[in-house]
Amino acid sequence: MKALTFLASRFVAGDDLDDAVRAVRALNADGIKATLDNLGEDSLTRELASAAAEENLEMLRRIDRTGVDANISLKLTQIGLAVDPALARDNLVRIAEEAARLKNFVRIDMEGSAWTQKTLDLFYSLHDKYPNLGIVLQAYLRRTEADCRDAVARRARVRLCKGAYKEPADLAFQKKEEVNANYDRCAAVLTKAPIPAFATHDDERIAAALKSCDAAGLVKSDYEIQMLYGLRAKRWRELRAAGHTVRVYVPYGTHWMPYFYRRLRERKENVMFVARGLFS
Ligand SMILES: Cc1cc2nc3c(=O)[nH]c(=O)nc-3n(C[C@H](O)[C@H](O)[C@H](O)COP(=O)(O)OP(=O)(O)OC[C@H]3O[C@@H](n4cnc5c(N)ncnc54)[C@H](O)[C@@H]3O)c2cc1C
Repeated sequence: MKALTFLASRFVAGDDLDDAVRAVRALNADGIKATLDNLGEDSLTRELASAAAEENLEMLRRIDRTGVDANISLKLTQIGLAVDPALARDNLVRIAEEAARLKNFVRIDMEGSAWTQKTLDLFYSLHDKYPNLGIVLQAYLRRTEADCRDAVARRARVRLCKGAYKEPADLAFQKKEEVNANYDRCAAVLTKAPIPAFATHDDERIAAALKSCDAAGLVKSDYEIQMLYGLRAKRWRELRAAGHTVRVYVPYGTHWMPYFYRRLRERKENVMFVARGLFS
């Protein structure tokens, strides 16, 4: 770890791909799978977007060479969506092709609501050709239950999360209880989609999703439970010991500030951790 300060290191595996692969090996040793994320969003030039795409290609090749059990997650604004949608599409095609060649999988993270429709449009325009692409839907958005039904109809692989961005009330539920209720409804819908991934640290949401999976007749290999690196490691192991497939999102890289900020905003205990670090 070079630039990465000890404050962010709770949530971020390190500065570079070597650090990330090391973290994935440790997870795999406990039977836990990973999804690697090269931190970065909002690439504002073609060069930065292409460099990010190259890094994602290298991630896929490194996973293949090292034999670690991991796929990758990326953000479309990182590979050029804000610069030129055609550039993002070209970059995504290159990444999806390489993932297909290496028999791996690419998850497209979901960003703020300004990008929701554009992200879904690009994803669905490539999904039939590249079924090794998956998407993320956010339970705080009012539209998401309908998007889940659409994903089921199109046989798309979805990671369901609550949503990490600040969104207005006309687009997003603002109360925790409303987001939670929508999460449970969407999880139930997604039991009909291929390999739904329930991404949350919330035990009640996990319990509700597992109940829906059970009611739909799914077995443990039919779905995944996903959590973020640095959060609830004991819980990952418990879920794994109970036979569930657990995948941890492993971010790395030097552009950690926006990711780090989202983690601080969503949970006061994370702020306390940083505050303790600052004053100790
Ligand atoms: C694998 C993964 C991928 C994600 N991808 C995206 C994405 O593409 N787009 C996006 O917008 N967001 C993404 N997120 C972030 C997500 O939207 C939420 O912001 C984040 O997960 C916090 O919500 P939560 O479901 O964990 O529950 P919260 O509402 O934060 O917490 C609910 C409850 O869970 C328990 N809990 C939470 N954290 C802890 C902890 N550290 N220790 C003990 N108990 C805890 C507590 O009981 C808490 O009250 C992702 C999250 C995960 C796990």
